[in-house]
Amino acid sequence: MKIGGHVSAAGGVDTAVQRALDIGANCFQIFITSPRTWRKNTYSDEQIAEFSKGIDTYGLKPVFIHALYLVNLATDNKELLEKSIDALAHALIMADRLGIQGVIYHTGSKRDRDHDEAMTQVIETMKEVLKRAPGKSQLIVEGAAGQGGALGSTFDELGQMIKGASSDRVKVCLDMCHLFAAGFDLRTKTGIDETLGEFDQKVGLENLVVIHSNDSKFGLGEARDRHENIGEGKIGNEGFRLLVNDSRLTNLPWILEVPGFGEHKGPDQKNIDQLKSLHRD
Ligand SMILES: [Zn+2]
Ligand SMILES: [Zn+2]
Repeated sequence: MKIGGHVSAAGGVDTAVQRALDIGANCFQIFITSPRTWRKNTYSDEQIAEFSKGIDTYGLKPVFIHALYLVNLATDNKELLEKSIDALAHALIMADRLGIQGVIYHTGSKRDRDHDEAMTQVIETMKEVLKRAPGKSQLIVEGAAGQGGALGSTFDELGQMIKGASSDRVKVCLDMCHLFAAGFDLRTKTGIDETLGEFDQKVGLENLVVIHSNDSKFGLGEARDRHENIGEGKIGNEGFRLLVNDSRLTNLPWILEVPGFGEHKGPDQKNIDQLKSLHRD
């Protein structure tokens, strides 16, 4: 299985490679800028070459960039929207330079705007981002946790985005914690079958390229986005056992974004081992 985690790239993008190896990951995710500021980091050609060499040498693939948390494609604030487009386009361009598969982002909140108006803007904005970064890296929308105003918590909305943007570079990331928070019961085979069945019908399983493998601190449908270690949350080991062994999901990359056992330095090797132990080969 491909199991990895979000690792820090502090001190240069090339430093992420060793951090991924340290937790026993064979795929991973990074931020290329601080997720809470708009400031862009510059990486030297040497650092970029070192990074690409590292992921090739150790077979650490695929790699993903997680976009800034500030990005909001549904906002009615023009300045924020322009910054969001610029940040996503920059991340896509960097992904192509680094040999990274794609950029995972949260659509953001429409607040009290009209739903259809916001959705139309989101789709137009996705097209604009792709136009400004005409490479091959994927623009990967992450499902939201059902918080008020956030777009992308339902498969209807994700399906609209995928169909509306109509580019084979647009893909989807499902976060198990977000799904559970949004009301999809991942604790039983029936719940998982219903979830993936609806996803396939409205979005298409062929568009699902990565899993965020997080247990949930809060309960089903509570719309709270708080990640928990595998087995320590409300989805639990039994839910993850069913998920990792599901033939529709097993072969995808599983990226952990969890607090970590013990010292809270997650995602840690113990979470990776826990997920692996639930998978019967
Ligand atoms: Zn996530
Ligand atoms: Zn989350």
